[in-house]
Amino acid sequence: MENKRIVIAVDGFSSCGKSSFAKLIAKKLGYLFIDSGAMYRTVTYALIKENLISNGKVNMEQLPSFLASLKVGFKLNPELGKHEATLNDVVVENAIRTLEVSNHVSIVAAIPMVREKLVREQQRLGEDKGIVMDGRDIGTVVFPSAELKLFMTAEPKIRAERRRLELEQKGEQVTFEEVLANIEERDHIDQTRDASPLRKANDAIVLDNSHMTIEEQMVWVEKLIEERVK
Ligand code: C5P
Repeated sequence: MENKRIVIAVDGFSSCGKSSFAKLIAKKLGYLFIDSGAMYRTVTYALIKENLISNGKVNMEQLPSFLASLKVGFKLNPELGKHEATLNDVVVENAIRTLEVSNHVSIVAAIPMVREKLVREQQRLGEDKGIVMDGRDIGTVVFPSAELKLFMTAEPKIRAERRRLELEQKGEQVTFEEVLANIEERDHIDQTRDASPLRKANDAIVLDNSHMTIEEQMVWVEKLIEERVK
């Protein structure tokens, strides 16, 4: 009997390695991988570029028409074999990963109008199942009936060091303290916002990967997947 194609939702705190894990799962199953955070980052990058964010506040008057004109999506990079974030069809994958974007993304992601637009697009991408999506509200709002829901967490200091290393490898010099402050700030905003706050879905399975390698995480998840695709 052929395996069923399912939807896998990977939610959790910032910099837990959700995307790396979700990407590997998708590769193993031959599924589409979507990093929903990249979509919030793309909108944030566009707002910064157009000077529509100042002093940590978004220009709410211009937001509706600006949002309506924005096309947020992904394009397959055949050389790297992965989907890269696009803004109006231009690849912005590197530009959306800076600390400047990280420092503003949570206030943008807390705006209901932004969430509505992006959630609609995310649901469209999952219409045919066979998808692994990571984010903050995937198991609770985007795909409440996903067959497998994972909720990832790790100790904040471990997450900050992982993210600092990642930024350093990309040539961005930031201190451990700066990264830790950003992670703690984003966790706080994500958990306390009114619109789709970050929380574990009742039927999500928790994975604390503070002291696990990616290989160990894959072994852990394989059994869960097997049970659901049969
Ligand atoms: O996953 P990543 O850390 O790149 O996401 C950036 C930000 O986008 C998060 O800190 C969060 O504020 C927001 N986000 C969200 N809902 C999602 C994915 C990301 O609110 N589904």
